[in-house]
Amino acid sequence: MRGRFAPSPTGELHFGSLLAAFGSWLAARSAGGEWLVRVEDVDGAREVPGAADSQLRTLAAFGLAPDGPVEYQSRRGHLYAAALGRLLDAGLAFECHCSRADVAAAGGVHRACRPGARRPDPAVRLRVPDGSRVAFDDAVHGHVAEDVDRRVGDFVLRRADGWWAYQLAVVVDDADQGITDVVRGADLLDSTPRQLLLQRMLGLPRPRYLHLPLVLDEDGHKLSKSRASLAVDPAAPVPALLAAWRALGQAPRALPGDAPLDALLAAAVRAFAPGRLPAGPLAATALHTAAATPDA
Ligand code: GLU
Repeated sequence: MRGRFAPSPTGELHFGSLLAAFGSWLAARSAGGEWLVRVEDVDGAREVPGAADSQLRTLAAFGLAPDGPVEYQSRRGHLYAAALGRLLDAGLAFECHCSRADVAAAGGVHRACRPGARRPDPAVRLRVPDGSRVAFDDAVHGHVAEDVDRRVGDFVLRRADGWWAYQLAVVVDDADQGITDVVRGADLLDSTPRQLLLQRMLGLPRPRYLHLPLVLDEDGHKLSKSRASLAVDPAAPVPALLAAWRALGQAPRALPGDAPLDALLAAAVRAFAPGRLPAGPLAATALHTAAATPDA
């Protein structure tokens, strides 16, 4: 069993990303498995300088140590290029000359290129066959199915600006790193069918999936990755881990509130019960209160 945490370096580690880090670490460690960290720095426009180092320092301060060197997607372009080459050679991907407006005019779902469209910097899309219904069983959310052709259409593998698309990079990396269990936030639940389709077309193994609850702000929106107000404090890992433990639906009394960090983490690994993980979203305001009063 091998899991991973794959943050995008778009800001400080916040409570939502701590849940993904701690949840994936607990799932791996409690099963006697390994846990890796991969920096998903494939989107230069969204990357914040220094964010990756800061996230890694925070993970270290929280005692969440990976079982291997940290990988950076920005150094793995050759793997994505090889996978893309295989898809192009097999006729499963194509250069797309459509503009944003062309795709918007088709309801955002690309099924065919506008005749005669030409651009110097075509994106590359996966050709999603008609009838591409993809289903899987999520460990928390149960059966999930999507008609990828009708709901998403031919999706981008390499962007017009040359950056690799998340969907391709994540599939190639999870397979290359031998990830058996993908544990991450529920914001990625609807990306999973695309990833399963790509795995199938590339002949890659399918990991198990577990999507953790999302943390919502006071307006009911997903926590923005860069929201500094909810950044976790590397100088105070214990209260944040206790709050994350409760947010993961785990038994509050299973952890000693006053123990040092390593004893707390060891107790968490012993007590972790995946069956208690909640599916529904969590309100950040409630978690704030929980973080401030660890014994509540
Ligand atoms: N890099 C993605 C994010 O930070 C997570 C990717 C994944 O876990 O598959 O949202």
